[in-house]
Amino acid sequence: MTTRKPLIAGNWKMNLNHLEAIALVQKLAFGLSDKDFDKVEVAVLPPFTDLRSVQTLVDGDKLRIVYGAQDLSEHDAGAYTGEVSGAMLAKLGCTYVTIGHSERRQYHGEDDDVVNAKVQAAYRHSLTPILCVGEGLPVRQEGGHIAHSLGQLDGALRKITAEQAKSIVVAYEPVWAIGTGEVATPEDAQEVCGALRVRLAELYDSEVASAVRILYGGSVKSGNIAGIMAQPDVDGALVGGASIDAGEYTKICRFS
Ligand code: PEP
Repeated sequence: MTTRKPLIAGNWKMNLNHLEAIALVQKLAFGLSDKDFDKVEVAVLPPFTDLRSVQTLVDGDKLRIVYGAQDLSEHDAGAYTGEVSGAMLAKLGCTYVTIGHSERRQYHGEDDDVVNAKVQAAYRHSLTPILCVGEGLPVRQEGGHIAHSLGQLDGALRKITAEQAKSIVVAYEPVWAIGTGEVATPEDAQEVCGALRVRLAELYDSEVASAVRILYGGSVKSGNIAGIMAQPDVDGALVGGASIDAGEYTKICRFS
C-alpha cells in the first residue's frame, strides 16, 4: 500500500510583497518543528514577484518549507508578454505550480484545453502540478458535482502518461466554498475526492490512483481541518485566505 504524505499548500493569491513574504515564511519556519515537517509537507504558493526572495530564504536557512507558483504559461519562451514560463519557475527552485484554479478559469477564461497545455508545460520542466477542479453552486445544486469534477480531471490529463500522473496533486475545490466561509462538509469532500481517485484508477491503474495526493480546498481553517483530514481520500488541503496568517496557517499544518 502506498503511503501518501499529507500536503498543506498555501495559495497566497495576490497578497504580500516580497518583504512580507520573507516575514511570513520565517514565522512559519519558526512555528513548525522538525516533528511537524516529518508528518506533513508544507508548501507556500506566493505571487511570482516573491519567489526569488522565498528561494533565497529557504535555501539560505535550509528550511523544510517548499514553494511554488500560482500559475505558469503553457509556452516555454518567446513573445508572450506578461507570462512566466515553467523553465523560469524551475530555475527559481519551485516544486509546485497551481494549474486551473477557479479564479484563473473564471477571470481568465482558462478552459480544459488551456489547463491541459499548462499541465504538459509543468511536466516539461519537472514541476509538480497542483491541478484544481471543482464545481460552481448551480452545478452542485443540480447534483452534477461529481461528473463536473471528473470531466475537468479527464480534460487536464489528456496526453499525460501514468509515470507523470503518479506525481500530480489534485485539489478538489468547490467554487462555492472558495473565499466564502462556506466549507464543504468532510463527507462532501470525501465523496468527490473518492470519486477522483476511482477515476485515476480508470484512466491509469491502481498504482497511480493510490500514489496521487488529493487535497480539499475551500474556506479551510484551523477549526475545520481535522474533520477534513480524517477522510480516507483526502491527503491535505489547499488553503487560500487562512494561509497568509502565520499563526492560523501553522495550526492548519498541525491538523492532528
Ligand atoms: C483557494 O484560493 O484555493 C482557496 C481555497 O481559498 P479559501 O481557502 O480562501 O477559500
